[in-house]
Amino acid sequence: MTVSPEYGAPAERLAAVLARIAEACQSSGRRPAEVTLVAVSKGVSAAAVIELLRAGVDHGLVDLGENKAQELLAKSAEVADLSPPRPPSWHFVGQLQRNKAAAVTGVAAMVHSVDRSSLVRALARAAQDRDEPLPVLIQVDLDPNPGSGRGGARTADVPDLAEQIAAADSLALTGVMTVAPREVEPARAFADLAAISTALIADHPAATVISAGMSNDLEQALAAGATLLRVGTALFGDRRIISEDRAAGTR
Ligand SMILES: *Cc1c(COP(=O)(O)O)cnc(C)c1O
Repeated sequence: MTVSPEYGAPAERLAAVLARIAEACQSSGRRPAEVTLVAVSKGVSAAAVIELLRAGVDHGLVDLGENKAQELLAKSAEVADLSPPRPPSWHFVGQLQRNKAAAVTGVAAMVHSVDRSSLVRALARAAQDRDEPLPVLIQVDLDPNPGSGRGGARTADVPDLAEQIAAADSLALTGVMTVAPREVEPARAFADLAAISTALIADHPAATVISAGMSNDLEQALAAGATLLRVGTALFGDRRIISEDRAAGTR
């Protein structure tokens, strides 16, 4: 039988992920309490999100991630309508177009994917309406052949980008993020990101978040110092089942 994300066992999946985090933290002398788990719900129904939030309520699970602006807006409204046990915090983890910046800043608690000056300007303008500055991460592209399509600034461009973010009153420079490139050992990519983080913190002491690690490489990320994991498949099952339904018309 294939377990669909709708009818799988969210509590068991969550327990398995939390056990992996606990074990990886133990091996590297870290505390699980230092690590934020973001459940990436792209392609997953609001009903499945609610099930996971209920399963995670005793673990303090409130962080959810989306990688498309439209899906973030629609799903955050749907989830709110379904009375989540606690109000979720939405993370935007995908490539962001400038013209979607205002929509995303209205909903997101953190934007992980800031990778160019034009986006910094658009987010800074859009975030002026917020009560608190919008926490943002600089996404770094560690692919030796740039332009993978996943976005991200080159390592050499991080300091300038950091200055631009720090200069914007409506943004809070909070750390760095990467997606390990397919061609690079995850441990290697995450070690590079850790070095970038150390250099950034030297100039911006509050920018301590390291967003790294997904379903298949969270152990390597934790070993390298990740403070935030973005996990989809391991928590929700194979989301493509629902993505294909949506692609067939409902989106
Ligand atoms: C989909 C996605 C994830 C989660 O990936 P899984 O392999 O499903 O855990 C994490 N980060 C980003 C940017 C994503 O797009």
